[in-house]
Amino acid sequence: MERTFGIIKPDAVAAGDTGKILDIIEQNGFKVAGMRKIHMSKKTAQQFYSVHASRPFYDALTTFMSSAPCVVLVLEKDGAILGWRELMGATNPDMATEGTLRKLFGKSIDHNAVHGSDAKETAAEEIAFFFAGMNLV
Ligand code: GDP
Repeated sequence: MERTFGIIKPDAVAAGDTGKILDIIEQNGFKVAGMRKIHMSKKTAQQFYSVHASRPFYDALTTFMSSAPCVVLVLEKDGAILGWRELMGATNPDMATEGTLRKLFGKSIDHNAVHGSDAKETAAEEIAFFFAGMNLV
């Protein structure tokens, strides 16, 4: 079983879409192995997205991610990393395929409802970032 890391971002949590998104996640065969509702500090958001530090949207992204609570997830399934990227859809909701989470719940490229790891290494790093020392079941 492969594990990946996901976030239900502050826009989707504030809109009351957490339960709907979790339902779709489970309907698509993922097991939720870890889940926490957190309110990231700006510093935590900056560390988490440090790969984007030189990008023009870095400040807006980290301000948004630290603006309100989000839900961090560890998702488990065969092929979880690719499967979760597919279920999320394209970064820009306008470009996302019908039925994907970003199409259903995203409003714009900077308020796009969900995050997901893009590869094996980042999945391991991102799970460790938020769930180090915690029991994943
Ligand atoms: P993801 O893996 O699909 O989430 O996309 P990236 O890792 O490339 O970017 C991380 C997050 O930064 C995205 O989910 C967007 O919310 C935001 N982002 C990416 N590109 C842009 C952009 O060109 N403009 C803005 N405003 N935000 C962006």
